[in-house]
Amino acid sequence: MEKKSIERLNALHPLTREKALVAYAEAVAKTPKGVHPFITQTLRTFEESDALYALGRTKVNPDGKTAKKPLGNIVTNAKAGQSYHNYGLALDFCLQIDGKTSWGIDENWLLVIEIFKKHGFESGNDWKKFKDAPHLEMRMGNHWKQLLILHNSGKIDKDGYVII
Ligand SMILES: [Zn+2]
Repeated sequence: MEKKSIERLNALHPLTREKALVAYAEAVAKTPKGVHPFITQTLRTFEESDALYALGRTKVNPDGKTAKKPLGNIVTNAKAGQSYHNYGLALDFCLQIDGKTSWGIDENWLLVIEIFKKHGFESGNDWKKFKDAPHLEMRMGNHWKQLLILHNSGKIDKDGYVII
């Protein structure tokens, strides 16, 4: 589990990668035995965002599919380029408790958030409009609109990350 988390953190933007790895190591060390923070996603490609945006809108999402709602649940409001994940500036986590995945927000969940915040990340759990408890991001003053302009004008490094 930890190996997969670190592999995902290594896909973050070069400016956030080290900070996220340090915060993650601290979270692993400080959570009690049997509880483990697990990184579920970091970098999301534009193509992956398009596929997620389509769910519940133009493509069937088995999750939430009913006779009244044949397309199932909508998963995200972010189109490709509108998510900080698209630039490697965001990550999502959950907890592994005794080897089982847990999305429940308990004191250990909040501890992981506090540790990442201490290292400069913003938590989606603090958002008023659309709470996103698994989400952590580091924008460094950049709005996705600016990042999208940089991306579209080719201001990207050899690995595809926007140069900011
Ligand atoms: Zn996220």
